[in-house]
Amino acid sequence: MSIPFLDLKAINLEQEDAIEQAMRRVLRSGWYVLGKEVEAFEQAYAAWCGTRHAIGVANGLDAIFLVLKAWGVGPGDEVIVPSNTYIATWLAASHCGATPVPVEPVAGTYNLDPARVEAAITARTRAIVPVHLYGQCADMAPLMDIARRHHLKVVEDGAQAHGARYRGRRAGALGHAAAFSFYPGKNLGALGDGGAITTDDDALARQLRALRNYGSQKKYHNESIGFNSRLDELQAAILSAKLPVLDDQNARRRALAAIYDAELAGIPGLVLPVVPEWAEPVWHLYVVRHAQRDALAKGLAEAGIGTLVHYPIAPHLQPAYADLGMTEGRFPIAETIHREVLSLPMGPTMTAAQAVEVAQAVRRIAAAL
Ligand SMILES: *Cc1c(COP(=O)(O)O)cnc(C)c1O
Repeated sequence: MSIPFLDLKAINLEQEDAIEQAMRRVLRSGWYVLGKEVEAFEQAYAAWCGTRHAIGVANGLDAIFLVLKAWGVGPGDEVIVPSNTYIATWLAASHCGATPVPVEPVAGTYNLDPARVEAAITARTRAIVPVHLYGQCADMAPLMDIARRHHLKVVEDGAQAHGARYRGRRAGALGHAAAFSFYPGKNLGALGDGGAITTDDDALARQLRALRNYGSQKKYHNESIGFNSRLDELQAAILSAKLPVLDDQNARRRALAAIYDAELAGIPGLVLPVVPEWAEPVWHLYVVRHAQRDALAKGLAEAGIGTLVHYPIAPHLQPAYADLGMTEGRFPIAETIHREVLSLPMGPTMTAAQAVEVAQAVRRIAAAL
């Protein structure tokens, strides 16, 4: 590919010295799990998000799952999730023994539609998991208002939205708790798996520190049926090395998105991202829609331009969720999104010239469809 979808190697090599130093520091410390590197990263990440606490965990799925678990979500309970998301959001509810209850998004923003959430609430509903999809925050104010009126908990799925702002506040500081993933391809990515939970709730933070570590705060004293879901020292040290440049990297993504917005405007059949005035996205992905998505992707691939589909199959149509009996046509907005979306190249090492080249190729290929 002459323009790759995402050049992870280039992104990490921009900080080769800082990352090598961090790795060497951990190697030489002789301490590899739950130590001062994790503590330091937790403090730095909480401060960056604007929350009292951050709790490092093994991955983003666990981050959502552990919060639901700490809230006591279990069999017979329902958890409201977007009908269009990465399946991890649903799996977190399922792993608690609860039922994920899908709600359709706003077609323009791809994020959970507050107007539809209330209709999905039943006596069994315990929590809502809005996803800040593609790096843009969900409309949190009405969601928090609904949650307050129905005594529900809200955990943000911020896996794609490190640093995104909603009415000036950062993702992570918008719900009762928030879950983040540091999977290598995310805006803040480790060199392996990692995750974190942010919250202002002292009691929840305490509970989560135990839950991630065998239900133990004090070695060999187990207060709950816990898990082994820890961020390791090596990944924490690497994340601490990368966090200081994240704002700059997100700004570079924003500049590329602005180029795409301008260069892709007015192409017949091409739907561009919609950004409400209260949103400040971090462009984890720049996602367009086209009825002939596959042909567009093929044309771009032939031009040497990498694209991906996030995501090709809606969770309710996955074999994993066949038991829910939700057949095709049940969530038409999500199904259309999954059929038509295409993610264009986007990342902090991509150049403005490359964005222009991608946009010109899209225009040329779309005109011939
Ligand atoms: C990546 C992602 C997750 C899961 O994170 P992992 O660290 O891979 O477990 C959850 N939700 C969304 C929206 C994601 O993009």
